[in-house]
Amino acid sequence: ILEVKHLSKSFGANAVLKDIDFVVHPGDVTSIIGSSGSGKSTLLRCINLLETPTSGDVVFHGDSVVDKKVNAAAYRAKVGMVFQSFNLFNNMSVLENCIIGQTKVLKRNKEEAKEKAMQYLTKVGMNPYINAKPRQLSGGQKQRVAIARALAMEPEILLFDEPTSALDPEMVGEVLEVMRGLANEGMTMLVVTHEMAFARDVSNHVVYMADGVICEEGSPSDIFENPQNARTKDFLARFR
Ligand code: ATP
Ligand code: MG
Repeated sequence: ILEVKHLSKSFGANAVLKDIDFVVHPGDVTSIIGSSGSGKSTLLRCINLLETPTSGDVVFHGDSVVDKKVNAAAYRAKVGMVFQSFNLFNNMSVLENCIIGQTKVLKRNKEEAKEKAMQYLTKVGMNPYINAKPRQLSGGQKQRVAIARALAMEPEILLFDEPTSALDPEMVGEVLEVMRGLANEGMTMLVVTHEMAFARDVSNHVVYMADGVICEEGSPSDIFENPQNARTKDFLARFR
């Protein structure tokens, strides 16, 4: 469904991603792990067209999306993204946050958009808060709204960039629970995370990045029980 091919990204002289290759198949839950600065966010941002790769390609259903002619908003409806910092519209209610993309990008009418928004807000348990503004919500609640907003676009893939890193510890579980539910329903997900338990228990594929390259990738048991690369071993040892 998604292929990253020889992707490189530099900021000036700083080569942040170097020749990244990997494939996401339908239904895959891929976790990307690695230390701070290894290029994980930049990789997701290139996939979501928030950054332009310096070279290489991102291919969605066989078509390159790295082309000025591609409609980025329409593509992002299919490849949704959930950010560490939620990125909700603070001047809009929870419900409006979940409607705006549907009416603007998908051209759904207001009633249909509201229905979908309610459906996904209910799914994440945020239906009692539809009239609240984001500032009235806890971090975990905000992130669940952000997930509902992404789901309301009915994407084919959801990208998550450290969705629980900005949360107080007691709120991490509720967000991971929602993500685990999506994974069990077969949602295709690409998740940058420091939650090793999530990577091990929920994903079917784990990618370990260091210094802008994929050092090692494989099944959770390959990576967590039998890592081959010395850097992978060092990295994982920090979580024991
Ligand atoms: P973390 O775990 O801390 O989120 P990360 O793996 O997501 O780290 P990135 O945010 O992708 O890492 O950053 C990788 C490198 O790219 C860093 O050295 C960072 O300073 C640099 N970088 C990222 N975005 C930009 C930018 N817009 N301009 C210049 N340099 C950038
Ligand atoms: Mg990051």
